[in-house]
Amino acid sequence: MSSIVLFGPPGAGKGTQAQRIMESTGLPQVSTGDMLRAAVKAGTETGLSAKTYMDAGQLVPDHVIIALIEDRIQEDDASNGVMFDGFPRTIPQAEALAGITQVSHVIAIEVPDGKIVSRICGRYTCGNCSMVFHDEFNPTTEEGVCDGCGSNEFKRRADDNADTVLSRLSAYHEQTSPLAAWYEGRGIFHRIDGDRPIDEITTDILNVLE
Ligand SMILES: [Zn+2]
Repeated sequence: MSSIVLFGPPGAGKGTQAQRIMESTGLPQVSTGDMLRAAVKAGTETGLSAKTYMDAGQLVPDHVIIALIEDRIQEDDASNGVMFDGFPRTIPQAEALAGITQVSHVIAIEVPDGKIVSRICGRYTCGNCSMVFHDEFNPTTEEGVCDGCGSNEFKRRADDNADTVLSRLSAYHEQTSPLAAWYEGRGIFHRIDGDRPIDEITTDILNVLE
């Protein structure tokens, strides 16, 4: 069994690549955010423990997250490993993970911050069918009319402004750079240039994983 860790800042296209890696490798995607929400909803012991921290506005501590991962990795679909998304976030988590499953590759999709800001800030979605558009890169065919359903009502997320995006990116870099160094020291860290067409990025990632 060997697992993959996927890193990428918000707006780098990580979701699309994660989907493609899953299809190609058959490894299930494990997102600690989703798992936490599911555990809280299911009212499991770990979920209830996590909820006390979340309700208090605190970060869920490493030992709770690690307990979740330990349970998840025992499930049938994880017998060949999993693809972690959003985990590990800290070096203690990375150390604990090394004791739970063998991580064979860490893939980091990298896009310059300035490019991400222009990608994210131009985004808008149809208020009716949720189709995603972009002012510059993917506008509607007819101005003001959704290509998917013909609606003329669109939404923009309030937190998709440049300052907010830049502060999310700086938090991401602060969190990721020590982990990148930790994994680089183990020879399994791979940087992928994410500022290219989606298919080229996928090809590069799958080549690394072969
Ligand atoms: Zn629509």
